[in-house]
Amino acid sequence: MPEKIILLNDLRSPALAVPSAPEAPTGLLSDALGRPLHDLRISVTDRCNFRCVYCMPKEVFDKDYAYLPHSDLLSFEEITRVARLFIAHGVEKIRLTGGEPLLRKNLERLVGMLRALGTPSGRPLDLTLTTNGSLLARKARALKDAGLDRVTVSLDALDDAVFRRMNDVDFAVSDVLHGLDAAHEAGLGPIKVNMVVKRGTNEDQILPMARHFKGSPFILRFIEYMDVGASNGWNMDEVIPSAEVIRRIGAELPLAPVGANYLGETAARWRYLDGSGEVGVISSVTQAFCHDCTRLRLSTEGKLYTCLFATQGHDLRALLRTDRSDADISGAIAQLWRGRADRYSETRTIDTSGLARGKKVEMSYIGG
Ligand code: SAM
Ligand code: SF4
Ligand code: SF4
Repeated sequence: MPEKIILLNDLRSPALAVPSAPEAPTGLLSDALGRPLHDLRISVTDRCNFRCVYCMPKEVFDKDYAYLPHSDLLSFEEITRVARLFIAHGVEKIRLTGGEPLLRKNLERLVGMLRALGTPSGRPLDLTLTTNGSLLARKARALKDAGLDRVTVSLDALDDAVFRRMNDVDFAVSDVLHGLDAAHEAGLGPIKVNMVVKRGTNEDQILPMARHFKGSPFILRFIEYMDVGASNGWNMDEVIPSAEVIRRIGAELPLAPVGANYLGETAARWRYLDGSGEVGVISSVTQAFCHDCTRLRLSTEGKLYTCLFATQGHDLRALLRTDRSDADISGAIAQLWRGRADRYSETRTIDTSGLARGKKVEMSYIGG
C-alpha cells in the first residue's frame, strides 16, 4: 500500500525557451538521437471517475487532492492553436487522453476543431482517444460525428469482481463492454483494448480476456505495469513480462509473431495460428522501445513532456498567454525537440529491493 504523500502536479517547469531567430517549420524535425516528431498526446483533464490501483490510488487521490482549477486548463482554442503548430512540424497523429478525457465537457467540440486542421502532406490527421470506456456508450456517436477516427479502451479484467477491485470505484465491467459495442457500432475502429497486467492482482484475467476478444473486432493488447509517477508504489516483482503473457496464451491458443506496422509502433504483435485475429504486447519495462520513440506529451495545463518519465515539463502555456507569435512558439517547439535525448526505459535503474528510482510525473496528469 503506498504511503500518503503529497503530489506536486506542478513540478518545477521552466517556460519553454524561445530561440532568438524565428524559423519556418519544415515538417522534418529530429531529436538529439535522430528520432522524428510524429505523435502528440494531449491530456485534456487531470480528473478521473476511476481510481485504478496502479494509476490513481484512492489513498493519494482522495477528496482532499488538489486538481487543477479550470482556468489553468488549456482552452480548446489554445489546444487547437498548438496542434496546428505541431502538425506543421510533422505530427501526424494526435491522441486525446487524461485523466479520463470524456470527463472534459463538450470534448466533441475539440475533436471537431482538431479534425478541421489540414496537414502539410494532405494526408488526414490520425485523431484518436484513450478512455476507460465508462462514458463511451453515451458519447461514441457524437465523437464519431465530430470526426474522431478511433478509440483505445482500457480494460483490466473481464471478471466483474476483479474489474471492480481494479477500478476501485465499484464500476461494472458490463458498462465498459456496452461502451465498446457502442464505439464499434459508431465506426470508431479499429478499436484497441489495453489491459495493464499486475502480478497477483489481475493475472488470472489474461486468458479469459484473450478468449473473449479472440475473433472479435477488438484488438487486445497487454501492457506491462510501469513505474510511472510516484503514487502507485511500483515494484518490479509486480510486473509480468510480456514474454510470460505470450507463453501463457500460446500454451492454449497457439500464436506466431507479426512484423510492426510502422516505425515507433509500441506493441509487438502476435497472430493466432487459427486465423482468428491478433493480440499485442507492450513491453515498456522488459524491452524498452526508446530508440524509435516519436512521442511528445502536452499536459492539461500546457506543459510539454519529452518523455513519460520526465521529472520536468516545459511551460508552453506561458507563451500562449503572453501574446507570443506563432513563429516564436513554433521555434520554441523545434528547439525543445532538437535537444531531446530521453531514453528512460533503456536506462531505468532498479535497486536491490526491486524499486525504480527517481521523482516522476503522474500518468493521470500527462496521460498514457
Ligand atoms: N483514463 C484513460 C484510460 O484509462 O484509458 C486515459 C488515461 S490513462 C492514464 C492511459 C493509459 O495508461 C491506460 O491504458 C492505463 O491503463 C495506462 N496506465 C496508467 N498507469 C499505468 C501504469 N502504472 N503502468 C502501465 N500502464 C498504466
Ligand atoms: Fe483513470 Fe485511466 Fe488512470 Fe484508470 S488508468 S485511474 S481510468 S486515468
Ligand atoms: Fe519514449 Fe521515454 Fe517511454 Fe523511452 S521511456 S519510450 S523515451 S516516453
